[in-house]
Amino acid sequence: MKKIIFERSKCIGCGTCSVTCPSFWEMGDDGRAKLTEGVENKGVVEREIEEESCNSDAAQSCPVQCIHVTDV
Ligand code: SF4
Repeated sequence: MKKIIFERSKCIGCGTCSVTCPSFWEMGDDGRAKLTEGVENKGVVEREIEEESCNSDAAQSCPVQCIHVTDV
């Protein structure tokens, strides 16, 4: 298992993650990225996933490095 940790307050809304990994990431109405099925707690959004999938690409391409993928 892996966990995506998204520090949403740091997102600058560049849109790269939604292009790199659209099955998990989309842009929200407030101009920041949204992690689909993510659970928000105090500004940090988390979601557990089986496989890293394209989230590692999204994490690497995020210019402010606010997407993290860790082992659970
Ligand atoms: S790549 Fe990073 S800064 Fe850009 S929209 Fe996605 S989370 Fe926000």
